[in-house]
Amino acid sequence: MILGRPGAGKGTQGVRLARHLGLVHFSTGAILRRAIGADTDLGRLARPFVEAGELVPDEVMVDLVEHALATPEVVESGYLLDGFPRTAEQATAFLARRAGTGSLDAAIDIDLPADEARRRLLGRGRNDDTPEVVDHRLAVDAEESGPLRALLQRDGLLVPVDGRGDEDDVFARILTALDPHRSRRS
Ligand code: ADP
Repeated sequence: MILGRPGAGKGTQGVRLARHLGLVHFSTGAILRRAIGADTDLGRLARPFVEAGELVPDEVMVDLVEHALATPEVVESGYLLDGFPRTAEQATAFLARRAGTGSLDAAIDIDLPADEARRRLLGRGRNDDTPEVVDHRLAVDAEESGPLRALLQRDGLLVPVDGRGDEDDVFARILTALDPHRSRRS
């Protein structure tokens, strides 16, 4: 899985890393935005939360992720989760359901200062990237990410990576940081 505050580069790095490792890339934000665009039941449920910069309720997200990971392609290739878990509760529920399967190798934690993240988000201009919503997303993240990180750290899964600088440099740092974790598998 790949973590980091909004704007830290989870999406950009997640797509690259999944391609590099041959994993299925699974972005909860992208799935929610697609559902909202298609006006599905999930989309109608998620829309007010996403538009306000709030988190979609944990139970909804845990079910959504479990469902998405239960495909033959994911079972065969493995997966990279981008944007999930966002809370300690999501992580606890996810790890409890998957405990002992050895399916989780690492939680890459991209670290970028909040002012830089804010600059990047406001430059990007997605629908939910208005100044008010961005500030709220950053505030929600500041509240949730401490307990989430502590939990993953306790399980020896957290892999911190400096998210400053250009995309290629960050990607190289991720690969270097992941090296010891990847060799556990082979
Ligand atoms: P960002 O990390 O830049 O906020 P994402 O695309 O990851 O962008 O998420 C966009 C929005 O989707 C979030 O603000 C939130 O409303 C919702 N969302 C995505 N993932 C989760 C999750 N795991 N739990 C709850 N809400 C989520």
